[in-house]
Amino acid sequence: MISNELKRHRIRLSVTFSRCFPLIFLVCLSVSGCLAPSDLRTVGKFGMVIHGGAGTIKRESMSKEREAQYKEKLTEALKAGHEILSKGGTSLDAVEVTVRILEDSPLFNAGKGAVFTNAGANELDASIMNGEDLSGGAVASVTRIKNPISLARLVMERTPHVLLVREGAESFARAQGMELVPTDYFRTERRWQQLQRIKLKKKVKATTFNSPFESVGKFGTVGAVALDQNGNLAAATSTGGLTNKLYGRVGDSPILGAGTYADNKTCATSGTGRGEYFIRLNACYDVAAKMKYQSYSLVEAMREVVHTDLLGLGKNSGGLIGIDRFGNYAMEFNTSGMYRGVIDDQGEVKVGIFEP
Ligand code: ASP
Repeated sequence: MISNELKRHRIRLSVTFSRCFPLIFLVCLSVSGCLAPSDLRTVGKFGMVIHGGAGTIKRESMSKEREAQYKEKLTEALKAGHEILSKGGTSLDAVEVTVRILEDSPLFNAGKGAVFTNAGANELDASIMNGEDLSGGAVASVTRIKNPISLARLVMERTPHVLLVREGAESFARAQGMELVPTDYFRTERRWQQLQRIKLKKKVKATTFNSPFESVGKFGTVGAVALDQNGNLAAATSTGGLTNKLYGRVGDSPILGAGTYADNKTCATSGTGRGEYFIRLNACYDVAAKMKYQSYSLVEAMREVVHTDLLGLGKNSGGLIGIDRFGNYAMEFNTSGMYRGVIDDQGEVKVGIFEP
């Protein structure tokens, strides 16, 4: 009798334990710190993540009005991407349209509002990549293209090449019927004054060939990564580069693998920061490679690249955004801020600027 009663009690205990096991497991994991909230971030079936540049962005030095302007523009860009994705459109269309909106805004260092080279010009770089077939297109050092991201897409879709530069890219644009804008279209007083301040600070002449870039990073590149309803990933990045960069300098943004990468098997990523480091690390591809060869999750891979590898090359070196084929997303930066945002399949928007 007693032993039967004991058996029943044990069975009840073991059923209760197995029912509670998932909960107990999760509680243990979170207590041990293995399940940080960001590990659980997902957009659902489709969605998009964007950045508007990382850098020394401090809450105390930004007015409330300025902060609101950035957040409004990031939200507008995310919503435009979401409209495409929610109607069953492609991630490629979504990232292009979203980046165009950011390029058209003088707030960001891409398209209108791009930073100036040491020669006082605006030279723009951009790239786009399709995770479905690894096709990609890019343009570098263009000076008369209003939306470099759209020209990058044309390079991808209408040429057998991946990267076109300078006059070559512009004559291709003309041949495709793209309107070219005068070079002063990109000029903003704010960026011009940034160049003057750096020159004064560094006491360098416009023609000095060892002129340093802006020493404290204020990167303003824009980028978007998206997952569509068919499970396809895409990434796009566009920039004016670094203030006071040498004439002809090309950064990471138009280099597939360095500033932009997308592969349906792993993730889509876009970077912002000191481009030379991103190129040397092949930063965006490295996130995908860690997932592919070391079975890292997106967030683990991205944290290692941003907080170990990039930081190892230089402080305040930048940030990355990414989304994987399951809709998990990550945004990591080793600077004091990064303009960033995400929209999920329900259309819920989250935007941020400063450190969490
Ligand atoms: N990564 C860009 C470059 O080096 C700069 C930026 O992110 O703002 O050209």
